[in-house]
Amino acid sequence: MAAAAPKLRLPRRKIDPDWVRLEREAELERSLRGQPCVQRWFERTHGGAGHVLMAQRRRMLSGSLRVTEGVSPYLSQLLGNVRKILGIAGRVELYVAPSDSINAFCMPLPEGALLLVISSGAVERFSEREFLFLLGHEIGHGLLGHYQFPAEAMVHPEDDDNQLPWATCMDLLAWSRASEISADRMGLLCCQSAEVATRAFLKLASGLSDRFLGAGDDFDAQMDEWVRDKVAGEGLDDSHPIHSIRVQCARAFAESEYWSTFFGSGGAPPKHSVAEADAAAHEQLRTMDADLTHIERLDHPDEHMEFLTLAGFLLIAADGQISSVEFHWLSGLVGEALAERVRAWCAEVGLEAVWNEIQERGKALAQQLERPDCFRLLEEIAVIAAVDGHVDTAEVKGIQMIAEALALPSNLADVAIRNLKGAKGEAHQFA
Ligand SMILES: [Zn+2]
Repeated sequence: MAAAAPKLRLPRRKIDPDWVRLEREAELERSLRGQPCVQRWFERTHGGAGHVLMAQRRRMLSGSLRVTEGVSPYLSQLLGNVRKILGIAGRVELYVAPSDSINAFCMPLPEGALLLVISSGAVERFSEREFLFLLGHEIGHGLLGHYQFPAEAMVHPEDDDNQLPWATCMDLLAWSRASEISADRMGLLCCQSAEVATRAFLKLASGLSDRFLGAGDDFDAQMDEWVRDKVAGEGLDDSHPIHSIRVQCARAFAESEYWSTFFGSGGAPPKHSVAEADAAAHEQLRTMDADLTHIERLDHPDEHMEFLTLAGFLLIAADGQISSVEFHWLSGLVGEALAERVRAWCAEVGLEAVWNEIQERGKALAQQLERPDCFRLLEEIAVIAAVDGHVDTAEVKGIQMIAEALALPSNLADVAIRNLKGAKGEAHQFA
C-alpha cells in the first residue's frame, strides 16, 4: 500500500498559473501563434463555436448529475478544497456522468465559468486525494487558458479546407502534450503528493481499483521499453504524454523549487531548480516528438511498391479524408514521388476505381508470388495502416479486403495486425 499523503495545506502564496506553466508549452504557443497558417486558422474559424458549448451543457443537465451540496456533500467538499487551494473566484459546474471508464474533461462557459465532467468510473475508483489531482488537472486547463488554443480541433478539422501543414500539426500535438504536464502541475498542487498522482496514473493506465495496486515505484520502466520498441510514428499523434512520462514529470515537480515556493521544503533545499524541473520534463516529452529519421523506407520491386501505395491510399482514405499527417507518413514509407503520383491518380478516378485496381493487381500478384511473399506484402500494408500509431476498425476491414484480393485467408489479416509491435486499444484518459 502507498504511504498516506501528508495533510492538505493551503499554498504559502497565490498560485500564478503562468509561473507554474511548463516553459516548453509557452515556447511552442509563441512559435505557433507566429505562423501565418495558424493565424489564418483562427480568422477562418473565429477560434471555435460558443453555441456548441452551450449545447454540451444542456446535454450534461439532461444526461448526468450536477454536483451540489445536497446531491453529493462528498464531491461538493472536494471541489470546495480545490477552489480554496487554487484561489478560484469564478463559477465551476461539476457533473458526474455514468460510465465505467475513467474519463474527465473540462470546457469553458461564457463569462469565465468552467464546466467539468467526470465519469462515475473515476469517482468510484479514485481516493479523495486522487480525485483532488483529477479536479485540479481539469480546472488547471481552464486557469492556464488552454481552451483558447484548441489543438485537437486544429489537427483534426471538420472542414478539409482548414487542414494545417504536417509540421504545424506535429507542433500542435507537442504543445498539447506539454499543456497536459502544466495541467498535471495544477493537479499536483491540489493533491500535494507525487505518490498520489502516481496512483491516479496507475488507475488510468489499468482501469483497476486500489485493492490490486501498489505504489508503482517501478512504473517508469514501462516507458523505457515503449521508447525502445515503438514503431515509426507511434506517439506522434497522441495529444497526451504516456502515463509513465507524466509520473516522472510529477516527481521532478514535487522535488523542485516550484514545490518549496508553495509548500516549503522542510529545511532542506529543493532537489531541482525551476529550470531543472522544466528541463527534466522537456527531456521526457522529447521522446514523443517527431523524428523523421526513424521512418524506414519500404524496399520492394517497383510493381509491388505501387500495389502497396495503392493499398496505403485505400486505408488512409478509409475514414473519409486524407490528412496531411497521414500523407506525410505514407510518403515517408513509399517515397514522395510515388505517393504524389498515386495521390493524383486516386483523386482523378475515385476510391472505387482504386479498389478495382487493387483487386486486379492483387489477383495478378497472387498468381506470380508464393503465398509467404503475398503475406509479407500484407504485413507491410499493416505497417502502413499503423504508421500513425494505431489501426482503427475501418483499417482492419480494409486490410481484410486486401488479404482477400491477394487470395489470402482473411484470418491472415488479423495475424499481420497482431505481428505489429505495440498495437493500441481503447484507453482510459482524462482530457
Ligand atoms: Zn488534460
